[in-house]
Amino acid sequence: MRFAPSPTGMLHLGSARTALFNWLFARHHGGVAVLRIEDTDRARSSREFEAAQIRDLDWLGLRFDEGPVRQSERGELYAAAARRLLEEGKAYRRSGLAVYLRPGTREGFFRDRLRGEVGFSGVEDFVLMKSDGTPTYNFAAVVDDLEMGITHVIRGEEHLSNTARQVLVYRALGGKPPEFIHLGVILGPDGRKLSKRHGARSVAEYRREGYLPEAIVSYLALLGWSHPEGREEFGSLEELAREWDPARLGASPAVFDPDRLRWTNARRIRALSAEELWERMEPFVRGVEVPGGRETFVAEAVQSELATLADAPVLVEKILEPVDPAVFARDLPEKAAEVYAHAASVLAERAVDSVESARGLVGELRAWAEERGIRARELLHPLRLALTGRDQGPEMAYLLAALGPEEAKRRLEAARE
Ligand code: GLU
Repeated sequence: MRFAPSPTGMLHLGSARTALFNWLFARHHGGVAVLRIEDTDRARSSREFEAAQIRDLDWLGLRFDEGPVRQSERGELYAAAARRLLEEGKAYRRSGLAVYLRPGTREGFFRDRLRGEVGFSGVEDFVLMKSDGTPTYNFAAVVDDLEMGITHVIRGEEHLSNTARQVLVYRALGGKPPEFIHLGVILGPDGRKLSKRHGARSVAEYRREGYLPEAIVSYLALLGWSHPEGREEFGSLEELAREWDPARLGASPAVFDPDRLRWTNARRIRALSAEELWERMEPFVRGVEVPGGRETFVAEAVQSELATLADAPVLVEKILEPVDPAVFARDLPEKAAEVYAHAASVLAERAVDSVESARGLVGELRAWAEERGIRARELLHPLRLALTGRDQGPEMAYLLAALGPEEAKRRLEAARE
């Protein structure tokens, strides 16, 4: 198979899905995945977009066995094929140097794996080579697909009318068309073709907004495909490839739901280990000073609240930013001073080197409070205020682990004064 993007913009979700399905198809069948850059439109194509699209594919984990092969570097191949068609009388020149196909018949059919036999008729003559000597998409794609020995073409349903023309080019060149799989369109929740107005962004934008590549892959995989047992989450691309059966592809339109993508992302964030999460969120929290050695605790403290990694800085700030005890001093219960004194003395003696040890410490504080007739709320609420200046936030053990015993003690002592 081949994935054949035009480098005329960033990689958007629809193309990413096409790339993913091509890649999965190749993996499933033990075939070769080729990346072909369709850059014959020199005015609209750029190397920057090519590099950006490859970087985004790479980020999604989609690496190709061959390529990138650039059509702009294969001009001679298309020129030779056009010369041959001219010599054989299957094409003619018109308006300057433009070369048109003169099809013997203008009708036929092709097989689409999802739609069966697709018939067409009345195709008008169309351009193969433009007067500037560059090939059109329909011509270059067929010359390449033949030359590269492409057996399966997977692309969006918007190409169905191109496929009819391409079938005529195959016929003229004496080549056998590959098997076609035209994926159903992706619609927005309002039933119209997916676009920015539905919150569909480029893959690069999703990366910047703190989406995980595995969340995007997992979500895209279900736009036009389903698992036989209804599974909706896959650990890795490799696992997805093992489970991926092309017989489960469907031609009906798929609806893109940005909320569902966000939800998938939150779930994938929750599935990360503390170390992995810190590694992924670190670029997002560069502006926030995190105490050395406490990074993974900080990550764990905010993990369950993250929908995207971009939520991290605000949540981390809420835990780490300095607290002004004057703000909540009036609201403290009578027993707060006693709670602070005891908690500070316990913290002075303990190493809080894991969330588990922090939980142990909280357990001890609770037992101590119970003995003294201090209710859990009278214990935890003042502690939370002293540690973060806030009413709500992560579990107490996460807070203690994220701040570390020295800083936690310092904050308790400051609140006592
Ligand atoms: N360059 C075309 C596109 O990006 C490729 C279509 C095809 O796969 O043949 O839509």
